[in-house]
Amino acid sequence: MAKYSFKCEDVGMDCGFVMHNAGSEEELLEMLKTHAKASHGVTSIPADLLNKIKQNIKKSAKYSFSCASVGMNCGFEIVGSSSEQELLEELAIHAKTSHGMTSIPQDTLNKIKQNIKAA
Ligand SMILES: [Zn+2]
Ligand SMILES: [Zn+2]
Repeated sequence: MAKYSFKCEDVGMDCGFVMHNAGSEEELLEMLKTHAKASHGVTSIPADLLNKIKQNIKKSAKYSFSCASVGMNCGFEIVGSSSEQELLEELAIHAKTSHGMTSIPQDTLNKIKQNIKAA
């Protein structure tokens, strides 16, 4: 499961509040509302600030993929990539060297993306 973190500092607040490893964006925002009320006297977060907060929420997850999930029985697996982008780049190398695909066709790519697991 992806983890979410946020720092008040990132939206220009000088309070040192940091939240790590919230289980979802909703959970993080709920906790943040409590903090905003208690520490900043903000009873409801204005929409523009909320957008700014959402842009600064960091999502950390480890991405994994196995060729078997798209019907390739080569036994190849990637575990622990830090972004979907990184995983796709690694996979492109594998596709080229092991499957002789110089570029991954769009429909295969869509299938791959659906089978990438974020944990
Ligand atoms: Zn704060
Ligand atoms: Zn493969």
